[in-house]
Amino acid sequence: MSTRTTGYVWNERYAWHDTGRGVGIAPAGGFNQPYQTFESAESKSRLAALVEVSGMIDQLTRLPVHEASDEQLLRVHTAEHVESIRVQSAGRGGDGGDGFTPFGPGSFEIAKLAAGGTIAAAAAVWRGDVDNAYALVRPPGHHARREMGMGYCLFSNVCVAIEELRAVHGVERVAIIDYDVHHGNGAQQIFWDDPNVLAISLHQDRLFPQDTGGLDEVGGPGAEGANINIPLPAGSGNGAYLAAIESVAGPALRAFKPQIIMVSSGFDPGAVDPLGCMSVTSGGFKAMAQAILAIADEVCEGKVVFSHEGGYSPVHVPFCGLAVLEALTGHETGVEDPFGMSFDDSPAHPLKPWQDEVIQLAAGIGARLGL
Ligand SMILES: [Zn+2]
Repeated sequence: MSTRTTGYVWNERYAWHDTGRGVGIAPAGGFNQPYQTFESAESKSRLAALVEVSGMIDQLTRLPVHEASDEQLLRVHTAEHVESIRVQSAGRGGDGGDGFTPFGPGSFEIAKLAAGGTIAAAAAVWRGDVDNAYALVRPPGHHARREMGMGYCLFSNVCVAIEELRAVHGVERVAIIDYDVHHGNGAQQIFWDDPNVLAISLHQDRLFPQDTGGLDEVGGPGAEGANINIPLPAGSGNGAYLAAIESVAGPALRAFKPQIIMVSSGFDPGAVDPLGCMSVTSGGFKAMAQAILAIADEVCEGKVVFSHEGGYSPVHVPFCGLAVLEALTGHETGVEDPFGMSFDDSPAHPLKPWQDEVIQLAAGIGARLGL
């Protein structure tokens, strides 16, 4: 029996965003035999499929989705960036701006639908239509900067939703927890000088982008402490991720007192992800979601909105996503993660001293800066 009402966003058009025939992360050509781009529809479509087949869908409240408007996008992004995506999308497609963000015809509308999905989830939670929500959107958003797309991301779904909450719904203080394996550089840039948005990113140290995500990046003048990076060493497992939530995010959120928490939910810290070198299991993601919910219950009446980001294992991501939905709804589907037998008892999971060192440094920065 569900103990919470959980909103859910998915639209088949998210799967139609075409990232083409790359070689994982690079364009095809020369000695790079065409394969597919790691960011493909598969991991997301298969999660949506498992949500249906497992019966989880019957525990969720489907939320209607509309494309984000220009006005909504332009609160975060430059007019030049929005126009660039619009023009390329109306032709044969193109790139978001960094050479690693390919997209096909029509992706402008799909990206607006992704931002609109996160907006719909955030608004539903804020209004109290549902207790919490999961927006299974694509393309992802957390690398997108104000002036350019980056790392498979065209528009910052989470930041656009936050600005909608503030502009239309009267929300003042929002926190972001980003557990995608890559640094949440987009929110860091977008809210660098903003003391009313606390951005916390757990990520693999110097994975991507390689020049951001350090412990010393704490926010601009007047906003020091509102940006907390936790650059975990490669190889971190469930223990390190949970410790980072408990020891860094928990105290910071209790001090900051957000009115709502946005979670950038990437499953690329997963144990079989082709882009990350971490060891988190579906059980680890579920425990993190439960820990975040418990903190949200304390500080903001449980108002949490998960917005899907990365995660590139088409076979593992569905079980990780379902586990998070089990945490959000309180409903157990009984679906067994087939990867559990390989990874649940891994020696990667207990917290290691070199992981705890980073976590304590991040906790110390938050505490020193009043968080
Ligand atoms: Zn990622």
